[in-house]
Amino acid sequence: MSAKQVDINKWTEIPCECGGMAGRSTVKYKDYEVRGWVCKKCKKEYIHPEDSLKISRFEALKKSRVRVKIRTVGQSLVITLPKEITELYGLQKGETVGLSPESMTRIGIELD
Ligand SMILES: [Zn+2]
Repeated sequence: MSAKQVDINKWTEIPCECGGMAGRSTVKYKDYEVRGWVCKKCKKEYIHPEDSLKISRFEALKKSRVRVKIRTVGQSLVITLPKEITELYGLQKGETVGLSPESMTRIGIELD
């Protein structure tokens, strides 16, 4: 016996518990807009499990507030992004991000 791997991202429709079919859509979950499916018959919403997990990780990190040390590389100061953050946002080496000063004590990092 071999286990078959399924790719949930290819599912355009999933069966709903009402017997109808739920089509792919954007659904509201807490304060977030996430991927999911909405039943065409009873309007029940299903949340994409990856997005649900991502939100849980995001909220946990938001509460814990990750602290990092500023280092130097040559003439520049470097801030290391911990693995929890890079995994959550899917950041890769070589990518660029935008830095925007938000206040005198806060710098925003925007993903391209
Ligand atoms: Zn339904």
